Amino acid sequence: MPTRRQLVTQLLGAPALIGLARKTDRPIAGGFVFESQERGHRLRDQAAYTPPTSSRRSPVVIVGGGMAGLCAAWWLDKKGFHDFVLLEMEAEVGGNSRYGQNEVSAYPWGAHYIPVPNAESALVREILTEFGAWQDGQWNERFLCHSPQERLFIHGRWQEGLEPEIGATQADHGDYRRFLERVAAFRATGAFTIPFALGEGNGGPAVDELDKITFAAWLDREGFRSVYLRWFCDYSTRDDYGAGIAEISALAGIHYFAAREHEEKGPLTWPEGNGWLLRKLTAKLAKYLLPNQPVRRIARQGNGWRVTSEKSVWLADTVIFAAPTYLAPYIVEDFAPLPALSYSPWLVSNITLDHIPDKAGDIAWDNVVYGSPTLGYVSATHQSLRSRVEKTVWTHYWALTGADPRGVRRQLLATDWPTWKDRVVQDLTRPHPRIQESIERVDVFRNGHAMSRPVVGLRQSTDLRRLRQGLPGLYFAHADLSGFSIFEEAQYWGVKAAERTLQRIGTPSLKKRR
Ligand SMILES: Cc1cc2nc3c(=O)[nH]c(=O)nc-3n(C[C@H](O)[C@H](O)[C@H](O)COP(=O)(O)OP(=O)(O)OC[C@H]3O[C@@H](n4cnc5c(N)ncnc54)[C@H](O)[C@@H]3O)c2cc1C
Repeated sequence: MPTRRQLVTQLLGAPALIGLARKTDRPIAGGFVFESQERGHRLRDQAAYTPPTSSRRSPVVIVGGGMAGLCAAWWLDKKGFHDFVLLEMEAEVGGNSRYGQNEVSAYPWGAHYIPVPNAESALVREILTEFGAWQDGQWNERFLCHSPQERLFIHGRWQEGLEPEIGATQADHGDYRRFLERVAAFRATGAFTIPFALGEGNGGPAVDELDKITFAAWLDREGFRSVYLRWFCDYSTRDDYGAGIAEISALAGIHYFAAREHEEKGPLTWPEGNGWLLRKLTAKLAKYLLPNQPVRRIARQGNGWRVTSEKSVWLADTVIFAAPTYLAPYIVEDFAPLPALSYSPWLVSNITLDHIPDKAGDIAWDNVVYGSPTLGYVSATHQSLRSRVEKTVWTHYWALTGADPRGVRRQLLATDWPTWKDRVVQDLTRPHPRIQESIERVDVFRNGHAMSRPVVGLRQSTDLRRLRQGLPGLYFAHADLSGFSIFEEAQYWGVKAAERTLQRIGTPSLKKRR
């Protein structure tokens, strides 16, 4: 077990980076948000509670109102089935797609973009079209990420794009080219699709064996030595999966690059990130949503299920379990543990600035620092149509990788707000030495089980198979079912569970309710 000091060093690099605010620095306001760990721990520890005594009937109960649960609700409603409720643990639905708003801007607390969908992502196109992102045969220009999209701070200056260019040698470029060729060959197998399930079975043993080694081991085996290429791969997987190349499978690493075709336009983004879609879904589905209802127990009752939240008991024919799936063994009667699953802790901070720091250059939507343990920051005001932006909010992302997630989670919770705030500010100080003069507040979200990580063996594990299969009348729906925590996967599994539900219920009841 690493010591506290070792953990901190692993997380942050050299201890010298962990600067504390100087006495002369301007005071910074802020604190933690969404502190619901206690609720989660009560579930884990199966703490005693007084279950409500009376019960109500609802043919379908959705547990969890993240994107998967909401998309299940969207699909049921769209298909004319209205007899269901959605129970959400938190005070608001949205999960990892929640957002905040202050006098400066709306800003994300997690998901902040959706890539322009590939042709096979038909459901993504459908929902985005319904809510007006696709109009008259084109993507709404307001939502396509404006220029400059990405920049990298490397060797003391900014470059456009995230693949390191400054200082890259011929050997680096050779590795970049060869890597892209390998990715193109994998793409051609048809195994790397979004949603992932659509390509499963393609590619044969060569793709299956990628699940057996880490991405780092695959890069070694293929002779990719370029430090820049390896950094770029590591940055990319930390960004999408919350875990680095030594932690995830080669299958997941290659999927990141092979699943998306190169697209000049995009991604689609909004000040509040995917909170834009959340707003639309919440407005449409409001009548079904019951927040502040942590579900404590789901047990069989006849051919159906008895769903007990802290406030109500529901008797249901069918349950869609759209909460993070590691909770299933704690909540669902007789559901065996899921040891193959592992979750990445994240720290997300929203930093309100009353002016853009000196010499910050042309702020891009996504601003990354080479060699930093963090993922840099996204500007919430990037899509603003105003010609001059004075105040802004930057969302700083930090996937806490490189050590055992359980130890890191403990550290995440044991560390107080002033310390995390100082670390985040310190990280920003490298590209912006005078940033402290600009900062009004730093609000911090400690997300201990933010996303399932696609580790070696997950894809072929019986745990994933059990989750995809579900139980009679209980279907799982969560991005966890792919192991890739992205909107497209959450939506796919939400809709899939809704389809299975409709099949179980049968068309007659559907007709009756139209
Ligand atoms: C920091 C961060 C950045 C991200 N950025 C992006 C991005 O830019 N683009 C992208 O596509 N994806 C991104 N993601 C991935 C994101 O997880 C998915 O896009 C998607 O929001 C996942 O939805 P979900 O429904 O599968 O899960 P979740 O968001 O985990 O939703 C689960 C829901 O279940 C609720 N719940 C839990 N326990 C209970 C209980 N006992 N009873 C009732 N309800 C319960 C939770 O409160 C939550 O609302 C990001 C994730 C993180 C953490």
